[in-house]
Amino acid sequence: MNSVYIHIPFCLAKCHYCGFNSQPLGQPAGLKNYFRALAREIAGRRAEIKDIKTIYFGGGTPTIASAALIGKVLNELRPWPSDAELTIEANPGTVTLEKLKALREMGFNRLSLGVQSFNDDRLKQIGRVHTARQAVKAFELGAKAGFANIGLDLIYALPGQSLGDWKNDLAKALSLEPRHLSLYSLTYEENTEFRRQKAEGRIIPCGEELEADMYLEAVDRLDRAGLKRYEISNFARKGYCSRHNINYWRAGDYLGFGAGAHSHRGGKRWSNVKNSERYVRSINNGKSPAGFRETISPEQQRFEALFLGLRMAAGIEIKSYQRRFGRSPLEHKPQVWLRWKERGWAEWDGRNLRLTPQGLLLADGLAVELA
Ligand code: SF4
Repeated sequence: MNSVYIHIPFCLAKCHYCGFNSQPLGQPAGLKNYFRALAREIAGRRAEIKDIKTIYFGGGTPTIASAALIGKVLNELRPWPSDAELTIEANPGTVTLEKLKALREMGFNRLSLGVQSFNDDRLKQIGRVHTARQAVKAFELGAKAGFANIGLDLIYALPGQSLGDWKNDLAKALSLEPRHLSLYSLTYEENTEFRRQKAEGRIIPCGEELEADMYLEAVDRLDRAGLKRYEISNFARKGYCSRHNINYWRAGDYLGFGAGAHSHRGGKRWSNVKNSERYVRSINNGKSPAGFRETISPEQQRFEALFLGLRMAAGIEIKSYQRRFGRSPLEHKPQVWLRWKERGWAEWDGRNLRLTPQGLLLADGLAVELA
């Protein structure tokens, strides 16, 4: 087990589109108790973690906590090899130079900034707590603190957003020269403010055609700027792909800590209870915080490895899939692969099976055919 995820479920406020396991921060004491529980949960499983390759602090907003609290949890994972990838997600409204310097000094070498847009009206519309100016400042502070690897997240297909608005966001993002960009189209998740507004007819979602145009514009623009698409929503300069996330897309094993965090190992999957108070109580009472467990059938494992692997531009390595599952991915519904090949959606050689750029646009629909 060499990939570790730590979940911090607190934010300054809930964004209008957010379907993640996150909640506005109540009492600061709650944060301290939560971090203490996290450290205890990790200490209890530390022996299972060997030869760390990636550590990822996500949320929520990890940087809502002080560097000292984050450092105490990170210390539970020491030591790790010098080439390990240590990522922390940050909301631009929660960072200072001192905090970023401290995070860099304790070992984080990858900073993922949740910028979402460089347009203040859009930021207000989606409920972000920061301005475009703060986002730029956070990037500059990250660089000053010594982060050579800074990535940005952006959202598109927002209600009322035009292709021109999106082009401006892309241009601003590229002007900062990030090493990595994650681009997510807005989805109307259950129990979100946006879902309610949509149901009440208060917002009109962006049309599918415009959404596709925005995506294709980004793929082209980023490619010309040297940020290559390596997964449907993720783009990076050479050598800066997220190793942590690639492990997910390769259906690798990982251990998750914290409220709602998922783990996956050897055909089993489990997740902790989502509620942060219940999570802390379980840990303090010496009980397992796991709220859900399942054994993944061999057939489901094969399908997940296909479905996730095809999200990546490189696709699936045929031989390693064969080693793992005892047969070629092309033996899984061969008639489907042949049809996709004829239509120009999939291609393969002796080494890799992958979706074409056109196929990547249709990936979710294509996965249904494989299921
Ligand atoms: S900052 Fe991220 S996790 Fe927190 S509410 Fe907004 S989208 Fe959700």
